[in-house]
Amino acid sequence: MKTKILKIKCPECGGKGEYTDRDYDHIITVFGCETCGGGGAEAYGDLKKGTGYVRKKFDVLNEKCQVCNGEGKNTYIETSYGNGFFGKYCKERKFKEECYACGGTGKKLVEIYQNKCMRCNGKGKETYWEKSFFRSSVSYERKKTCSKCSGSGVCEERASFIYEG
Ligand SMILES: [Zn+2]
Ligand SMILES: [Zn+2]
Ligand SMILES: [Zn+2]
Repeated sequence: MKTKILKIKCPECGGKGEYTDRDYDHIITVFGCETCGGGGAEAYGDLKKGTGYVRKKFDVLNEKCQVCNGEGKNTYIETSYGNGFFGKYCKERKFKEECYACGGTGKKLVEIYQNKCMRCNGKGKETYWEKSFFRSSVSYERKKTCSKCSGSGVCEERASFIYEG
């Protein structure tokens, strides 16, 4: 089993870098996906599309990905309809795309979440109080490297299920 950081299709926006939403007045607006680095909204004139990809850390298992059957790619069929010179047409286009569930590895993945360390609140340092040598009623605030995350500010946690995109 290997641990890898994979560039994987953003599960939030499905790789589009943006998503649409309806507000209370049923006005549809386009938002930049924050999960993959975008932000803002079309309606406010500050739309910034995300990349459509996110970096995640995974354990790569020695088992075939069931979504793509180990190929690392999935085949999709895109159907388009329209009016052509000889009347209506229906076109089908086949295309392959990197598998959203395994990031192209062809193996089952288990995500390793990068959580903010709760002990130091992601700062990497923890505070402790040291009593004064001379007056026991006085304490000094001191900082030391966080004992839980060893200063990284991040605590990793393995998912208990197979990643599905
Ligand atoms: Zn996204
Ligand atoms: Zn796959
Ligand atoms: Zn910590």
